[in-house]
Amino acid sequence: MRVPIIAGNWKMYKTVGEAVNFVRELAGLVAGVSGVEIVVCPPFTALAVVAAQLHSQGGNIALGAQNMYWENEGAYTGEIAPGMLKEAGCRYVILGHSERRQYFGETDVTVNKKVHAALAHNLLPIVCVGERLEERESGTTEEVVRGQVQGSLAGLTAQQVAGLVVAYEPVWAIGTGRTASAADAQQVNMFIRGLLSDLFDEAAAGAVRIQYGGSVKPGNAAELMAQPDIDGALVGGASLQADSFAGIIKNAV
Ligand code: PEP
Repeated sequence: MRVPIIAGNWKMYKTVGEAVNFVRELAGLVAGVSGVEIVVCPPFTALAVVAAQLHSQGGNIALGAQNMYWENEGAYTGEIAPGMLKEAGCRYVILGHSERRQYFGETDVTVNKKVHAALAHNLLPIVCVGERLEERESGTTEEVVRGQVQGSLAGLTAQQVAGLVVAYEPVWAIGTGRTASAADAQQVNMFIRGLLSDLFDEAAAGAVRIQYGGSVKPGNAAELMAQPDIDGALVGGASLQADSFAGIIKNAV
């Protein structure tokens, strides 16, 4: 059985103070909720303080980062190393988000380096893939997603893949209010699982959690999560308010 995982990607929002208040409020809203993994991914500046808050309040909320570099240390101004995220208290790291690909030049090759580095530091990657609108409209969704999955996960063992989280995020649905239908999301998630079975093995494909992301809200979460190959959500906008994020979490189980 795959435990669904709901992760909040805060992007470049929230000061340290706002972040701490958020996790305090969220803890109250999701206390007692079980059968789902909950992750918040604040900006780098808030990670250590949020980790301390999560530790002191106890409970079931894990911490993730939104990006990292693949080297252990060095002269890479502005970058953050995997070990630094681990030390700050992160369990997860989002890699290859479409905004990173679009604005910061990330490619499947750089995402792949990051995936290997994260795993080497016991960070669990949430690897994002997804087609752009013109790719969906030209019927190349599966081809695009296949290339991203193959490239991003190259060189991993089946055992490593089994522990991963993959987020299928159609770019046209991110931050647009336009959600993929549950049937369309299920179709691509099922395609990804089949691909992972071909590339690695059936056990890994059966174990890996595949999220959907793209304008997930409390009102559409239940239908999406009811799909057999959708194992949670990566949530942007609706993860910024504790009550809407808690609504999604509760509707996922
Ligand atoms: C995201 O940032 O990964 C995302 C899915 O954003 P939103 O929920 O706002 O579409």
